[in-house]
Amino acid sequence: MNAYIEKVLNEVRVKNANEPEFVQTVEEVLTSLSPVIDAHPEYEDNALLERMVIPERIIEFRVPWEDDNGKIHVNTGYRVQFNGAIGPYKGGLRFSPEVNLSVVKFLGFEQTFKDSLTTLPMGGAKGGCDFDPNGKSDREVMRFCQAFMTELYRHIGPDVDVPAGDLGVGAREVGYLYGQYRKIVGGFKNGVLTGKGRSFGGSLIRPEATGYGSVYYVEAVMKHENDTLAGKTVALAGFGNVAWGAARKLAELGAKAVTLSGPDGYIYDPDGIVTDEKISYMLEMRASGRNKVQDYADKFSVQFYPGEKPWGQKVDIIMPCATQNDIDLEQAKKIVSNGVKYYIEVANMPTTNEALKFLMEQPGMVVAPSKAVNAGGVLVSGLEMSQNSERLSWTAEEVDSKLHQIMIEIHDGSADAAKRYGLGYNLVAGANIVGFQKVADAMMAQGIAW
Ligand code: GLU
Repeated sequence: MNAYIEKVLNEVRVKNANEPEFVQTVEEVLTSLSPVIDAHPEYEDNALLERMVIPERIIEFRVPWEDDNGKIHVNTGYRVQFNGAIGPYKGGLRFSPEVNLSVVKFLGFEQTFKDSLTTLPMGGAKGGCDFDPNGKSDREVMRFCQAFMTELYRHIGPDVDVPAGDLGVGAREVGYLYGQYRKIVGGFKNGVLTGKGRSFGGSLIRPEATGYGSVYYVEAVMKHENDTLAGKTVALAGFGNVAWGAARKLAELGAKAVTLSGPDGYIYDPDGIVTDEKISYMLEMRASGRNKVQDYADKFSVQFYPGEKPWGQKVDIIMPCATQNDIDLEQAKKIVSNGVKYYIEVANMPTTNEALKFLMEQPGMVVAPSKAVNAGGVLVSGLEMSQNSERLSWTAEEVDSKLHQIMIEIHDGSADAAKRYGLGYNLVAGANIVGFQKVADAMMAQGIAW
């Protein structure tokens, strides 16, 4: 590995010793940049990597709110504005008890390269709160969102930072957050958040975008491999918005998702999650707030595996759409022994670095990285920003065709970059290189301002 990368990585490990998720993602990105850093000695002279691994700004704040029984709770909110070199900060908000600074920093770092990959001018940010929306009443969620925005509003804006949803933050939460923002600031402000409802500036296809985009990416992989999606079986993890969009698009293209997972275990449906009834039921399960995938097994009389992950099932394609570190080395070995050819990350950092390395070493296996595969979500958010600033609304076909076209560009651009640096069909390194290069060019051009 390049000595400059090694040095920066060591500093990151020491300085962020209490932030394992963040260190993990920095290791994953930087270790694949060796050929680029070798070709650009001026980066070291400009301390480019040292600057890139520190967020431009971290905002941490107190969020007090009152539950339905009049009891006061206090949560910790975050917004990490990681890198604004190529455009306004952009990235989601995650509400989950697992949120902490390490998680938000890892997501913000990833987001910087993901947003760069979309080809649109968006910098990287992420935020969230250690608040658990599961089991809360609608009014509690509303009061919490209002309390959260009462601090966040002063740090965001259409030219500054444009938040959106992520785990635990869907259309309902975005609506409440936007309502409070508008009340405080008193203007449309180009919608400020993306993922808004259709009636107040939301884009068509935004709810479907991450899932659809991931399947468009898989189509591009298939084309590269002279293979086809039709007839393939797919193991999905998660059962939220992303898994829903993926299941729908897979069904449309003649493939079938056969597993879903939740915190309680996973379900296996050999007939596939392909009918409208089954796909719509995923939305119902999410809206119920029960957070249990067993409900699907009960409703459609299929097998439920409590406490297990779906990676032992023999399928053609694996698409983890849940959360980080869903697949460790042991799970990865199961996947390989089942002869799976396509390992397509969808959730952010679903694979431990050890498991990722192992999977990438398997001859003939195609591994695709989440920052490219799931970029369709933020990409359509970027299209929502364009529509809001122009006071226009594009048709579903227009948005979908842009999404489709850019997902193919993301795949092809990554494949080309890896090839150019002699790395073969390495989509992981290719995505890191393309995402990094644009941010690096912008930072170099802007001098040592940040
Ligand atoms: N949270 C999503 C992501 O990870 C969407 C972000 C956005 O639309 O800004 O890309």
